[in-house]
Amino acid sequence: MCGIVGYTGPRNSVQPIIEGLGRLEYRGYDSAGICLKINHKLSIFKKEGKLENLKGLLKDSSPVSQVGIGHTRWATHGGVSSDNAHPHGNEYFAVVHNGIIENASGLKKQLQAEGWEFKSQTDSEVFLVLLTKNFHELKDTLKAIALTFQTSLG
Ligand code: GLU
Repeated sequence: MCGIVGYTGPRNSVQPIIEGLGRLEYRGYDSAGICLKINHKLSIFKKEGKLENLKGLLKDSSPVSQVGIGHTRWATHGGVSSDNAHPHGNEYFAVVHNGIIENASGLKKQLQAEGWEFKSQTDSEVFLVLLTKNFHELKDTLKAIALTFQTSLG
């Protein structure tokens, strides 16, 4: 279980995302995070523990962006830590996930054997890494997303 919020529009997305996560916080207290598109780059802010901790982090850097996603986590795979907090991201994609990827451990072993690296212990990051691999191979975002959904069993 988790809380997921996305915003795109004329306002700074940070406030509506944080407000939405506040309403959904009962769905996951383990960590909270957001990813914002700032100057054509994905910036991730995430913190172990309650939403208040993320708010503190955001106060320090006051980011501004009109596009963003947010997540409050209820850990199922991987301990409670900032590294395991969502979103999981790289220069191409950011992923927030609700639930469990049933075949994550097999997929992760396969990806690691091919040289792909992981920053967390979550099943969710497997989706990100597989998506990135598929994107490199197919050079098409929508096809890569479709293939990744077909391969990862949720
Ligand atoms: N399985 C994912 C994790 O443990 C998502 C959990 C959730 O739904 O919050 O990170």
